[in-house]
Amino acid sequence: MEDRCIICGSSSLKLCFRLPYFNVLQCSECGIMFKSSVLEKDKQEELEEVYNSEKYWGNPQRRAETVNYDLHHKRVRIYRRILQKLADLIPQRGCLLDVGCAKGVFLDVARREGWQPIGLEISSFASQYARDNFGLEVFIGTLGEAPWPDASFDVITMLDVIEHLIDPSSVLLQARRLLKAGGILVIETPNARSILHYAAKLIYTLSMTSVKWPVFQIYGVGPEGHVIFFDQNTLIYLLNKNGFEFLYSDFDAMGQALWRSATLVERLAGTIDNVGSILFGGKYHMLVFAQSGERSSNLQLGD
Ligand SMILES: [Zn+2]
Repeated sequence: MEDRCIICGSSSLKLCFRLPYFNVLQCSECGIMFKSSVLEKDKQEELEEVYNSEKYWGNPQRRAETVNYDLHHKRVRIYRRILQKLADLIPQRGCLLDVGCAKGVFLDVARREGWQPIGLEISSFASQYARDNFGLEVFIGTLGEAPWPDASFDVITMLDVIEHLIDPSSVLLQARRLLKAGGILVIETPNARSILHYAAKLIYTLSMTSVKWPVFQIYGVGPEGHVIFFDQNTLIYLLNKNGFEFLYSDFDAMGQALWRSATLVERLAGTIDNVGSILFGGKYHMLVFAQSGERSSNLQLGD
């Protein structure tokens, strides 16, 4: 078990869940939750292996993200919503870097809407796909290896990325370096204060920790699983710590559409997410918009 928080370094940690293969810990100081196995092995190499396998990209959930994507596909609708909010903030558009750009669908949609798209991706398989099929400029590697000079981008997006990172602070510092003053960072990640998280914890607690599978499902397994679990407060803490100013959150981007055509368990989870969030608040999917450094005067804040 780790003895330090991976964000603030505090040694005051509590055990949230004892699960097969890993535990989930929470820092008493900053509130961040993370997997206990995060620091035990060289996860980067394992991740690269997973993301370079055809098995990973052949997953039916990922097959929708291909060159023949539908502009009305649930995932693409979320991309368009993100881009609409960005256009409200930066009407003149500009240069957009997508960190973890996968096969490049988001960047292709961004280009259709007037942005100059550039991708960063650790998977050579996915980045080759993005180059061959969309003609996109994609650099293979991590933000720490990024070749661009300081202040190269107006916007950096990290969609479903930050929850996989062992050292999110260093990644956010790199993002800040690459963003122009007043540039926008968009992070999409699950919300650890969602009704689904609370429901799983309730089942775990009421069963005296014997029913673990809902918690196990939510906190994920395998190297491609999530390692850090943010809520709005802990994400804002991390952003502020690394020189970003929080602008606003959007919990409705996924809507109900995400759960359609999913498995029965996912549809049930989607129903709990939608109904529960109406009653208690706290949807599963969270989009956070933040700004690098000082807020520039030409930025137009959306509602
Ligand atoms: Zn901490």
